[in-house]
Amino acid sequence: MSSNDSDHDVIVVGTGAGGMAAAVVAAHAGLKVLMVEKTDRIGGSTAISGGAVWAPLNAQTEKVGHPDSWEKVWRYMETTVGSAAPASMQKAFLQAAPVMLKWFDDQTDVKLLARSYSPDYYSDRDGAALGGRSLDPLMFDGRQLGSHFSKLRDPLAEFMVLGGMMVNMTDAKHLLAVTRSFKSWKEGVKLVLRYLFDRLSGYHRGTRLVLGNALAARLFKSALDKGVAYRLNSPITRLNMQDGVVTGVTVMSSGKEVELFARCAVVLATGGQPWSESFRRNNYPQPTGPWSMSPSDNRGDGISVAIQAGAVMGSASAFAAFWAPVSILKRADGSELRYPHLVWDRAKPGLMAVNGAAQRFVNEATSYHEFVIGMYRSHQTVPTVPAFLICDSLFMEKWGMGLAMPGGRPRNHLVKAGYLYQAKNLPELALQLALDPEVLERTAARFDGWAEKGHDDDFGKGSTDYNRYLGDSDHKPNPCLGQLRTGPFYAVKVYAGDIGTAVGIACNENAQAMGSDGLPIRGLYVAGNDMQSVMGGQYPAPGITLGPAMTFGWLAGSHIAEHQFSKGKA
Ligand SMILES: Cc1cc2nc3c(=O)[nH]c(=O)nc-3n(C[C@H](O)[C@H](O)[C@H](O)COP(=O)(O)OP(=O)(O)OC[C@H]3O[C@@H](n4cnc5c(N)ncnc54)[C@H](O)[C@@H]3O)c2cc1C
Repeated sequence: MSSNDSDHDVIVVGTGAGGMAAAVVAAHAGLKVLMVEKTDRIGGSTAISGGAVWAPLNAQTEKVGHPDSWEKVWRYMETTVGSAAPASMQKAFLQAAPVMLKWFDDQTDVKLLARSYSPDYYSDRDGAALGGRSLDPLMFDGRQLGSHFSKLRDPLAEFMVLGGMMVNMTDAKHLLAVTRSFKSWKEGVKLVLRYLFDRLSGYHRGTRLVLGNALAARLFKSALDKGVAYRLNSPITRLNMQDGVVTGVTVMSSGKEVELFARCAVVLATGGQPWSESFRRNNYPQPTGPWSMSPSDNRGDGISVAIQAGAVMGSASAFAAFWAPVSILKRADGSELRYPHLVWDRAKPGLMAVNGAAQRFVNEATSYHEFVIGMYRSHQTVPTVPAFLICDSLFMEKWGMGLAMPGGRPRNHLVKAGYLYQAKNLPELALQLALDPEVLERTAARFDGWAEKGHDDDFGKGSTDYNRYLGDSDHKPNPCLGQLRTGPFYAVKVYAGDIGTAVGIACNENAQAMGSDGLPIRGLYVAGNDMQSVMGGQYPAPGITLGPAMTFGWLAGSHIAEHQFSKGKA
């Protein structure tokens, strides 16, 4: 469904979690909503993400065994975000997130399930929870989107198997255990048969959607159900204004500028600016590069047009982006495949990270955000961008590392491409990586010692509930600590990548964009990563970008609807 008419109440720019949440709630209130999208697909980063949504105090926390309280979660915000973001915005998020979730659950297809065990990332800090606050979208059957399924952005190829089958962590564990457990075999067969059926039915990929693709699909389906129209291949180029009020947008369409009028408001949600080279140069720690996992179309377009219209950027931010270590495969045709080392390999027993001095510099099992902070900290004295993840062959066979898959799967192509380093012993591996062989051996021997003892006295790998959650629960005495003993040995280089930016337009509690006079710009709302992060560039828990994106998108849509019906133009 595309729209060419100019009769809209609300125009939402960008079709990720922030934009679609706003669109759904505004349309539910009876407003005529158009979503405009730069690319030929709906979903943005949201569709390729892990799909975790952090929404503390949600109605499911008690049921999953983690009753929460305002005091507790607020203590956690104070110890993790603190003054990096305005307290009023943090409070607005915590107040609205549970209401937003319940509203989506009651009124739409956006259904999420709280995790019964999923520690916040700083699980040893005051106020942290061990579960309940992060939720996953329920699996979604893409066939429910009908012909719109082909318009949904595909997940990252790195997170699919067999050329198009989505798997979450539970699926991956079953697939790895098919030869060892009957339950896993049954689950594995079910997954593969469903996938084969989809492909034989003509779908370009599997229709069993999980993770962020399920979240984007659920939002998309809900938007369609409520009559939201959309227009692809239509990047915004400017906001149209009259007497200081935003009246619509100008988009490029088939090489021509088209003006679209919005009777009530415009919501900007174009996914932040990770692919703006100048933003990275001026705001990221150095060195930096084109290492973001976000879609390369997220270039800060929404933020630029908002600033042209008089909006101001937010202040106080600990970091400009949400960091993730990323390894990069350069293909023969010059293109690049990037892999984010988020939750799979780093925490497992037997993986060690070293810097250019062949020394460890960080707790490998820490969050992806903290890992990169550790890289930059170490880089102040020793080259650490890139850093090196190192494992032995037992680890490789059991878990894989980055794009190198476990279970005896072929990996020579990765060695040939210069992505994976392989050597029969550690000194040879060190030479390939231009590291000092003696130091690397000493570092590994010390690491082995901590593994034997079950306690990493240097960096505390495996010392927190969060670390151990991502380790191997069958491995004793510490689920995150194992030795590097059995050749061949492997390494991949990781860069200081990101999964999106944290610096955006300053907003109030209703997601209205603020002007330099300290007042909201009438008719203009911002959501998702176009908005100044309420986490201030900190990363306290799984889902802390999608939770706020959905919450402030929902607040924007609700505020627009309320003002349309009660007070005129929002
Ligand atoms: C691999 C990966 C895993 C992640 N996992 C998680 C997770 O589990 N939990 C979590 O909270 N966060 C996660 N994130 C981060 C999260 O995906 C993003 O923060 C979030 O999706 C941003 O939502 P958004 O609505 O701001 O933007 P997006 O979802 O990126 O949507 C923005 C849309 O705007 C469009 N657009 C851009 N420019 C224009 C223009 N000029 N005109 C019109 N449209 C435009 C884009 O094409 C895109 O479709 C992950 C990110 C990655 C890359």
